[in-house]
Amino acid sequence: MGKALETFNLFPSLAEIKKPIKKHTIDTVELTDDPKAIELWDVCLQLIKDNIGDQMFKTWFAPTKALRWQEDVLVISVPSQFFCEWIEEHYFTLLRKVVSQVLGSKARLQYQVVVDKGKSSLEDRAITLPALRNPPAPTSGQAALPFINTPQAVQHYPTYLNPRYIFDNFIRGDSNQLAVSAALAVSDSPGKTKFNPLCIYGGTGLGKTHLIQAIGNHIVQNNRNLRVFYTNSERFTIEYVNAIQNNKVNEFTNFYRSIDVLIVDDIQFFSGKEKTQDNFFHTFNALYQSGKQIILSSDKPPKELRGVDERLLSRFQWGLTVDIQPPDYETRLAIIQRKSADEGFEVSAPVAEYLARNIGSSVRELEGALISVLAKVSLDNREMSLQLAQEVVKGYSQTIPQQSLTIDDIKKAVASYFKFTLEALEGKTRKHEIVLARQVAMYLTKQMTQLSLKSIGANFGGRDHTTVLHSCEMIENYLKTDKTVQTAIEHLSKRFGY
Ligand code: ADP
Ligand code: MG
Repeated sequence: MGKALETFNLFPSLAEIKKPIKKHTIDTVELTDDPKAIELWDVCLQLIKDNIGDQMFKTWFAPTKALRWQEDVLVISVPSQFFCEWIEEHYFTLLRKVVSQVLGSKARLQYQVVVDKGKSSLEDRAITLPALRNPPAPTSGQAALPFINTPQAVQHYPTYLNPRYIFDNFIRGDSNQLAVSAALAVSDSPGKTKFNPLCIYGGTGLGKTHLIQAIGNHIVQNNRNLRVFYTNSERFTIEYVNAIQNNKVNEFTNFYRSIDVLIVDDIQFFSGKEKTQDNFFHTFNALYQSGKQIILSSDKPPKELRGVDERLLSRFQWGLTVDIQPPDYETRLAIIQRKSADEGFEVSAPVAEYLARNIGSSVRELEGALISVLAKVSLDNREMSLQLAQEVVKGYSQTIPQQSLTIDDIKKAVASYFKFTLEALEGKTRKHEIVLARQVAMYLTKQMTQLSLKSIGANFGGRDHTTVLHSCEMIENYLKTDKTVQTAIEHLSKRFGY
């Protein structure tokens, strides 16, 4: 079975990224069955199956096939490049764990994109991508510290920027225009605009990470002498704790102070981590005073972040704080067209319009729905039809789009989860279980809607805003210790697509 093979490096230079994939050389190779590879991958698949839903497994993992097992590298085939990017983006942590458990800690996975001639009219091509790349972006307690044990680390360190996140493939619309303009200004003159720090906030899946990394990638490409570093508040915290444990706080501090452009994603997770905040405060000051650029992202406006020190919050607002809103219909349509074109597909107008009209809350979901459609067309030989789009959207519509989520939706869901009536939830009863359910409802309303504490109180039987604040704080405390509350919040958040 002859296949076309195209080698493609996931971390090429940024200039190379912009070249269309088709410019790479195409050779022909034989794909042979390797029983050992098949056996090992089967064990991995079992573990993966146990950890993700059936539907997800069927869509993303069932079509994979083990090709080779050689020198600690397991090569698996996937049906498209988008496919492996999706797998990497969504199942990176799980795959790392599974691969290291089944194949050993040194093992790596490599994807080979194999388009079967018999199944698709697409150009026949195969692309090898290094997966579970080394060093991985640390996500767990064993975070790799770029500044420890490597004397040359100051010169050679991973930026943790994903080269896929660039301005060129970030679709602009009214919902993100201001954020993009600010991001471009900062990219062109890091540290030299009024936008320092630049803080971009907005709901999940709206492109914050993409945009702040695009700034980093742009700067790396255009100012090779500037040291750019991307991290998130969780990783910063883990590294800091590790540094304390290993007596490396000085190295930690020196590393961060040597950065010219520091990008910190998801600063909301600094909440409640006082010591880390204190260290970040000093890092921030040192960088700011020497004219270095700081870029932050958050899921809400900094002034609304609870559990973060006032002096840090005020600094976050020194520069420019700008939001990204959910994309409007035209932008959603443009995103679908661009993403499918990048994948070498043409999505018919009715399908594109149907997806754009029905999936509105996040670009991530929109992308997910589009990929499901493309996967079904290329893997199951399905026709690109409105019916297919409807089927796919059905899987998404169990979640209520965040924009249209009302306090009544939340109250009803909480009442039904805890098996109380709405009246009980809104009423005066001080029974512990009902008080808890009421606090959960207030907390979720605060998290998921734009309502002020005052109006939430008013919607819960005319309670004072301090009662709402107290409820939110209580739930935040319970979330650290109480399994019942953790489960309830997790279940209800999922129900609302959070
Ligand atoms: P957030 O960090 O806000 O949760 P991400 O930046 O991770 O969101 O975006 C989720 C996905 O949607 C990513 O794959 C990203 O590339 C894509 N995306 C978001 N906004 C846009 C956009 N305006 N144009 C193109 N892709 C986008
Ligand atoms: Mg993000």
